[in-house]
This record gives sequence, structure tokens and C-alpha cells, in this order.
Amino acid sequence: MLKIGCHLSSSKGFLAMAGMAEEIHGNTFQFFTRNPRGAKAKAVDILDVKAFLARAKELGIGPIVAHAPYTLNACGAETRVREFALETMADDLERMELIPGNYYNFHPGSHVGQGAEKGIQLIADALNTVLKPEQRTTVLLETMAGKGSEVGRNFEELREILDRVELSDHMGVCLDTCHVWDGGYDIAGHLDEVLTEFDRVVGLKRLKAVHLNDSQNPLGARKDRHARIGEGCIGADALARVVTHPALSHLPFELETPNELPGYAREIAFFRGLFREE
Ligand code: FE
Ligand code: FE
Ligand code: ZN
Repeated sequence: MLKIGCHLSSSKGFLAMAGMAEEIHGNTFQFFTRNPRGAKAKAVDILDVKAFLARAKELGIGPIVAHAPYTLNACGAETRVREFALETMADDLERMELIPGNYYNFHPGSHVGQGAEKGIQLIADALNTVLKPEQRTTVLLETMAGKGSEVGRNFEELREILDRVELSDHMGVCLDTCHVWDGGYDIAGHLDEVLTEFDRVVGLKRLKAVHLNDSQNPLGARKDRHARIGEGCIGADALARVVTHPALSHLPFELETPNELPGYAREIAFFRGLFREE
């Protein structure tokens, strides 16, 4: 069965997110581990987590994707920026052990003028510091649009990071459809070729989740502005081919489109409908 959901607010806790997912017929979801602007994470409510685990099992929800704050930069130029990234990731991964078997997605970072090579090394160094052999969470590198000095703007940069991580069994990739499109990969016109390229460079077995977004901008724009499904330059038909592609259809799909719950419910219904007609 198609695994699809959307980004949800975590402000009311895990059980509330399971309820929201159920309401919109989602069977997975994504959430920020803390306020995206950074700062302290709230204390974990163990009762909420326990209730969530039971409810998620009943509803068939999961795996789910935790998203690190997008301000986190493991390859910043300043020591204190990199330290914040390390502390945040280590703390998030420790909390993730309460909901084992799920994903922790992060933006590799921005090298801020240090160069991609230096950025890649700093990101790998950070991962080599925070990953633990016994952890049960898979950490995902998100494919980036390549705006500014973002690292992860092509498949080669992701491969470079993975190659330098010692515990790379705990690593995977999350493909963001808006980001790869903005990065110049034509998933609308040449999906098979893009996936062949991904397989050649990174390996499809590394692909663990998809961020399902349309893009406000044309192919290769390097902008990263998400659009609702069918309201952007990728288009609903192309995104339908992504979701139904045999190499991808088993993955969890997370919508990050500019929507409230009713809009997400409509998009989820659209993608579920593709499978019912077959
Ligand atoms: Fe992201
Ligand atoms: Fe994304
Ligand atoms: Zn984005």
C-alpha cells in the first residue's frame, strides 16, 4: 500500500500527529525535531511517545521522517555553528531511539565560501562524530536545489559524503522532487534517466524517502520554492509518474507543499487514486 503523508506540526506531540495523519488518510508523516529556527527542543513526553507508538501500530502509520532544523549547518565556517549542528544532531538522534526504526533527514549544509570539497569533509566529520553503531535510526541526506553554497546539489556530492562516513549502514538519501528539479535533474521529461543516474552514482538501495513537491521555478533554477501538486513547473502528471514508478513506489512520500490539512488531504487522495484505478 502506498505510503504517503505530509509535513505536520509537532507542537501538540506525537499522538496528535498520528491523529492528523489519520484525518487526511496519511500513513506516514514528517515533523521538525524542534523549532526550525533552532533553539532548544521540548522535553520528551514519554507517555505521549508510548501512546503514539501504540496508535501508529493500529493505524499502520510508519516509517516516519524526523527533519532536523533547516538552520543546522554541519559545514559552517564558524566553530560555534558547527558545534550547534553536532549538539543538535546528537540530541535528536538520542531522542529518535524512543521511536526506533524511523528516519532522520537533514540538509547537508552550506559551505559558505569554503568550497564544496571542504563542506563535504566537514559534513562527513560531523556524521562520524554523531553516528553510533547501535542506533536504530537511519540518517538521510536530503538532495538540495543548489541555492547559494548548498552542498548536496548533485548526486555526486551526496556520494562523496556517504563514501567518507564510517558507519554508512546507518545512512541513506531522501530525494526532494522540487530540489532535484531545481538542481537540473529533469524528473518531468526524463524520470527513468534521472533514476538510472541516481542508481549509478549513489545506488537506489540508499534511497529511503521522497519529499513530494512541485516547484515554482523552471528546471535548473536553483531556487527551492515549493508549489502545490499541479500548480508548479513539474506538474501533477510527472509527480504521479514519480509515485507510481516501480523503483520508488515502495518508499514513504512526504508532501511539503504550501498547504493546510485539507489541501494535503486532497493531494494524498489524488496520489492514492492512481493506485485504485489500476
Ligand atoms: Fe528539507
Ligand atoms: Fe524537502
Ligand atoms: Zn525545499
